[in-house]
Amino acid sequence: MIFMKTIGLIGGMSWESTVTYYQIINRIINKELGGFHSAKILMYSVDFAEIEACQSSGDWERSADILSEAAQNLEKAGADFIVVCTNTMHKVVPQIQGRIGIPIIHIAEATASELKRRNIAKVALLGTKYTMTQDFYKAKLESAGIEVLIPDEWGIETVNTVIFNELCLGIISETSKERFCRIIESLEKQGAQGVILGCTEIGMLISQNDTELPVFDTTLIHAKEAARLALEA
Ligand code: GLU
Repeated sequence: MIFMKTIGLIGGMSWESTVTYYQIINRIINKELGGFHSAKILMYSVDFAEIEACQSSGDWERSADILSEAAQNLEKAGADFIVVCTNTMHKVVPQIQGRIGIPIIHIAEATASELKRRNIAKVALLGTKYTMTQDFYKAKLESAGIEVLIPDEWGIETVNTVIFNELCLGIISETSKERFCRIIESLEKQGAQGVILGCTEIGMLISQNDTELPVFDTTLIHAKEAARLALEA
């Protein structure tokens, strides 16, 4: 019998990108094991409206409570580890981790390892305004010795607005794609050797085909890491 751990996904932030996690993890497991194999996954998909309201009002403690309850339920149901399917909500991962006995696979740590593996020392970070401007995410990269560049004020506003008003609602716009490419280009001119798609929905808009700069899609990196750990003895 093949040994496989059960992955606990906390999704719904937004559900558009949780679909991608579910698909990637299952595809990797099937590629590794063949036949009819698929991943053992427990998913707790939250109501994103509740989480977004906490973000906008700055009530991070309430969001930590909601996600901790989800994590506790996944642990009780038999998950071996937790994957929080959003970059932004990693802001409250320390609080969630303190309330459960199974590990949370950190999206910024997985991304930092991939950047190191590819010898990237200076990287552009695109994500929500929380991820780009606050410390909880950048500090993980910086402590791995990676310098982080973020867009200017217009760029931060543009990327954040596109994430919440378009991508989280499943809307893909050519104009937004062009704007993202312009922002990436200007960060490349400042010395970025790669770009982190540090929001789990950006991969719906931007891919490696859109820029010469190496693209680090956190959804893909995080989902791959989850699949790898599920198969690790
Ligand atoms: N999924 C996004 C992220 O990776 C944004 C949605 C959220 O604010 O959680 O940050």
